[in-house]
Amino acid sequence: MKQDLLDLTIEETKSFAAALGEKPYRGKQVFQWICRGAAGFEEMTDLPKALRQRLVEKAVIGLPHVLEEQADPGDGTRKFLFGYDDAAVESVFMKYSYGNSLCVSSQVGCKMGCVFCASALGGFVRNLTAGEMMGQVLAAERAAGEAVNHIVIMGMGEPFDNYGNVSRFLRLLHEPGGRNMSWRHLTVSTCGIVPVMQRFAEEFPQVNLAVSLHRIDDEQRSRLMPVNRRYPVAELLEAARAYTEKTGRRITFEYALIRGENDRPRDIEALIRSLRGMLCHVNLIPLNRVEESGLDGTDRERAAQIAQQLTKAGIPATVRRQLGREIDGACGQLRLRRQTGPERGTRPDKKSTP
Ligand code: SAH
Repeated sequence: MKQDLLDLTIEETKSFAAALGEKPYRGKQVFQWICRGAAGFEEMTDLPKALRQRLVEKAVIGLPHVLEEQADPGDGTRKFLFGYDDAAVESVFMKYSYGNSLCVSSQVGCKMGCVFCASALGGFVRNLTAGEMMGQVLAAERAAGEAVNHIVIMGMGEPFDNYGNVSRFLRLLHEPGGRNMSWRHLTVSTCGIVPVMQRFAEEFPQVNLAVSLHRIDDEQRSRLMPVNRRYPVAELLEAARAYTEKTGRRITFEYALIRGENDRPRDIEALIRSLRGMLCHVNLIPLNRVEESGLDGTDRERAAQIAQQLTKAGIPATVRRQLGREIDGACGQLRLRRQTGPERGTRPDKKSTP
């Protein structure tokens, strides 16, 4: 099998060149070309032709193809459906005042089975490699014509169910001489796989951690998120607290607001009781309706009230800005629509990016 060069560090690329009988500095040149977004070896004009030919035989630059792209001209959000040989995943490019952010997928499909999530509906196909995650970044930059400065691993899949590849991806993003991204510009979102949260706090104390909480009582959370049966709320909050103590950094809780389900006064009061005193921030996300779940999002007015109530109680909270209002924003929706025919995508109520 050919080596995907997107999967390699600079040192590994040098070793790869050496294994081809080349001087290691050739590896460095190849690495830098790839880092700058080269899509093919023919673009690497300062390499001898013979070496470019060897590379074509032995290696690939595993950039995915753009199968579909939706852009929201209003706010600059672009949603991509990227295709690899055997699979398709989504990435979302978003513009913020602090820079451009890309929401990257870590798996094709997902095993976690959260009832409100479109990624779960398609089932699990496979893990993505670190190179395939890097491919999303480079392909999005090529298509958008702009650099990505922040990465959130919050697309399809559960990153802590693919920790080996995700941690390699984080290291590749940070690598000096490579993309050289600050750890603090990287965020990982988990549904709450407790043992991996503990490991992450040890290994990546400067990378931001977000936890999808959504409900605070076990019975109800288990109903929405089957992972809760394995790692119940008390253990999850304990791991979250340990993360803040170990790293000295704030943890983010994502809370998808579902009308009549977790947005009532008593739900918010219970949330406040559980989170009070923790170094945290709550990110409120009105649910994107996914037809199959029968669940609806809370309206923005009520969401704003809830944010205020939490903040007043000493728990900083914000309602996630609605990006990509005009496009199928929720994780997994673009892929799901493609799998099941076009009619699903023509709903008039297409909403925002979670
Ligand atoms: N598996 C990881 C990361 C991917 S999901 C996790 O669970 O955190 C990214 C975020 O989108 C999670 O908070 C998830 O709960 C949320 N999400 C999924 N479907 C959604 C929907 N239909 N509306 C709003 N948020 C959704």
